[in-house]
Amino acid sequence: MPNITERLNSAINSIRFFEKKSQRVENSVELIAVSKTKPISDIEQAITAGQRHFGENYVQEGVEKVLHFDDSSLTWHFIGPLQSNKTRVVAENFDWVHTVDRLKIAKRLNEQRGVFQKPLQILIQVNISDEESKSGVPPDEVMALTTELAQFDRLTVRGIMTIGVKTDDESVINKQFDKMHQLLQQLKKEFDTVDTLSMGMSSDIEQAIGNGSTMVRIGSAIFGARAPK
Ligand SMILES: *Cc1c(COP(=O)(O)O)cnc(C)c1O
Repeated sequence: MPNITERLNSAINSIRFFEKKSQRVENSVELIAVSKTKPISDIEQAITAGQRHFGENYVQEGVEKVLHFDDSSLTWHFIGPLQSNKTRVVAENFDWVHTVDRLKIAKRLNEQRGVFQKPLQILIQVNISDEESKSGVPPDEVMALTTELAQFDRLTVRGIMTIGVKTDDESVINKQFDKMHQLLQQLKKEFDTVDTLSMGMSSDIEQAIGNGSTMVRIGSAIFGARAPK
């Protein structure tokens, strides 16, 4: 079984390979190492190997890790569902939130972000596949929500995030990821803070990078399978 350093390097190599294959600029895709449910010692190994961006899904667990490392060279991304009664610790401890899907949450994050902190970097989660069960904003509502978020001075709207539909049909994935790319282009025209498309996980990074993703979120391919929660 390869160790975390080897798997991390192999994830980075795949990203560089797909950047090249789809004629993307080298290093234009950032790797977020998703460390949810994994112990501090695993994250330490990834840090030693040079990784700096980490993604966490669960508020309590994520904040404990941020505070444990207390390291300003690390960037922490909150990528899980966020309930309004848990926004404060996220606003105070994370650098990015990828899963903003309503004004109420954004308003609270804005009020709770410390005045001496850098603004919280925000992505709007988009439900690009129209599945009833998936969270996220319908594509035709993203522009309006971005306009509202842009007025908050403790938040910086950086772009959009999606979770790809689980299917073996590559054409379905490509179609949805292309829609995300087009949506990002529309937003970029209106908002000069927008530059980020968080899209792609272990199973679909090739399609994501081919369709303009700038952040991929990879967990199990680096840290191994997670125990069911
Ligand atoms: C868990 C998770 C990931 C990483 O998934 P893996 O299958 O472990 O690569 C990426 N994005 C989100 C939103 C997640 O919840």
